Amino acid sequence: MIMKKISILGSTGSIGTQTLQVCRDLNIEVVALSAGRNIDILERQIREFNVPVASVYDEVAAETLRERLNGFPCAVYSGDEGNCIVASAPEASIVVTAMMGMIGLRPTLAAIDAGKDIALANKETLVCAGQIVMPATKKKGVSILPVDSEHSAIFQCLQGAAGNSINKILLTASGGPFFGMKSEALKKVTLKDALNHPNWSMGSKITIDSATLMNKGLEWMEAKWLFDVSDDQIEVVVHRESIVHSAVEFADHSVIAQMGVPSMYLPIKYALTYPARVQSGDFSLSLIGKTLHFEQADEETFRCLKLAKQASRAGGLYPTVLNGANEQAVALFLDDKIGFTEIADLVEKALMNVPAGDAEKLDDVLRADQIAREQVRMDYKKGAV
Ligand code: MG
Repeated sequence: MIMKKISILGSTGSIGTQTLQVCRDLNIEVVALSAGRNIDILERQIREFNVPVASVYDEVAAETLRERLNGFPCAVYSGDEGNCIVASAPEASIVVTAMMGMIGLRPTLAAIDAGKDIALANKETLVCAGQIVMPATKKKGVSILPVDSEHSAIFQCLQGAAGNSINKILLTASGGPFFGMKSEALKKVTLKDALNHPNWSMGSKITIDSATLMNKGLEWMEAKWLFDVSDDQIEVVVHRESIVHSAVEFADHSVIAQMGVPSMYLPIKYALTYPARVQSGDFSLSLIGKTLHFEQADEETFRCLKLAKQASRAGGLYPTVLNGANEQAVALFLDDKIGFTEIADLVEKALMNVPAGDAEKLDDVLRADQIAREQVRMDYKKGAV
């Protein structure tokens, strides 16, 4: 296996810290790191991995980190520019995009522009700007290696496809903590309930997205871009056990699925070592005594999935509006300002009220994202939900 040098955007979050665990286990060199504002963790990471370049999004926190690192050979940058510097660090051959949300778009484009392969954990980037990102990767000849467990699974299933095209993607969903509940019960769930995911340990934003099933909607669009399929070629399958991580059906109706224990460590490692498979840690799956269930998703109750599928079919800036509105609504929910079912209400209102045109230009995408967030803040203040 050729040892890659990596750069991580969002190194202090859930995916970031697990990526560094892979680096620790496999002796992968880390050449640049970025974080939002968690400089305590970032400082420890910089010192442990002897990282020469870092960035903190928050300018004040960046200055504090510079003071703390006094004498340690690490250049600290800040803001969007800092993220882009980390993304295009000359020594890096692969960039892990593990930051949360639309904020990952510019640095991802900077990394592609600098010719880096992308280990993609930031699905919002493809949801909002797949039409810009995918042609850019082709132009630069760089690969996108999916880190999202479902997309890693699909990617792995396709390794044996010998060029045969996909008939259908079976995108699995755990169903989240509220599976089986109806709307009335959902109105009463709390933030603490929503943060308590049955199978996966993840950051707070994606944990809420998993509870609303918005995460599956975003993954639907991520799959469309990554695997070049249409909306008609994707089916969401609720699979409570999270052992099958997704599957691909081919023209002859043969289905290849990928299985494993539910740990993000495995898809992260595969993205970093691809095409090699490297042993580390004890993640062996025992199927003896296990029962696997597959069911339909309840889109009437979990409306975010339905809204996301509608936005996906409508195309243009609709996915950006959906995503921006969702990021803002989830932030309000995490602040305990709105109820759980109001996330879908606010996203739906934004989709109805924000004009969504064509999404070919980056500026239009960024503007639609801002307007969608503003619309949600306005609707919240008006008490429209
Ligand atoms: Mg996923």
